[in-house]
Amino acid sequence: MEKESEKKTVDIDDGVVAMAVRYQGFDPAAYLQYNYTPPRADFQRSDSIVPWKLSCLHKAFTEGDIDGDLLVDIGSGPTLYQVMSGCEVFRRVILTDFLEVNRKELKTWLGGGSGSLDWTPYLEYVCQLEGRSSSAASDKASRLRSAVTDVLPIDVHRQQPLASGALPPTGADCLVSCFCLESVSPDVASFNRALGNISTLLRLGGHLLLIGALGESFYLGGPGLQIPVVPLDEAQVCNSLKATGFALVQLSVYTLPPDMRVGVDDVSGVFFAKARKL
Ligand code: SAM
Repeated sequence: MEKESEKKTVDIDDGVVAMAVRYQGFDPAAYLQYNYTPPRADFQRSDSIVPWKLSCLHKAFTEGDIDGDLLVDIGSGPTLYQVMSGCEVFRRVILTDFLEVNRKELKTWLGGGSGSLDWTPYLEYVCQLEGRSSSAASDKASRLRSAVTDVLPIDVHRQQPLASGALPPTGADCLVSCFCLESVSPDVASFNRALGNISTLLRLGGHLLLIGALGESFYLGGPGLQIPVVPLDEAQVCNSLKATGFALVQLSVYTLPPDMRVGVDDVSGVFFAKARKL
């Protein structure tokens, strides 16, 4: 008879495999359109979700306790906003994603192409946060293009998420990860394991900046493609960080105004966590 512990492992692996299959239909251009255009990215509104995320990241990277040589972004998707502040602090940035289509989208922009979304308003907004005029956006674009040295495949469900030798033996000095772990894990146990796996990429004492969805059970990865999400709450996020060896430095929460609920997911809020690896 199959032992209960063996059965559980098989069930969890099945869940992870099912997620990977679902992701094969992911459409980067549609995803960008759903989440990274107004009203969610309205730089004239202080209650819009993207300006909130950019402000959290700007603040975290300029508080003076985060520095070093290498910043790694986990599950970058087709987006670049999450490293626009960090690329000024770290000499080198590595982007990562599970899907070739997303890595290709990132490489198009990094190679000087325009890609599926115009990142100029994002670059201008971050320049303003940094006290520079929005005309510095082209300098920031150049800085970002030169700071990103690699766009690598990753699987957060593997104990070794990146190919061996991809990072220095001591690990990255800082990790950032936005809307990845809860969107690729079939349950909280899998989310925690993925958090533990990415922690191995970070040096002791290094910081993790984690942004994610609260109360979300699905999002659209393309037309008609519902991707299941583990619904998280603030307490669960704190527990998961503690259980995987992080000290929470700061947790902020954003609640979605009704008109940001545009039908592309059922998210109710967003958390931003700054944590340090013990
Ligand atoms: N970070 C981006 C953002 O802030 O919008 C994208 C987040 S998107 C909701 C989730 C990302 O996780 C997708 O880009 C997807 O390709 C990636 N992904 C899917 N399975 C993964 C896995 N096993 N390991 C790492 N990333 C994965």
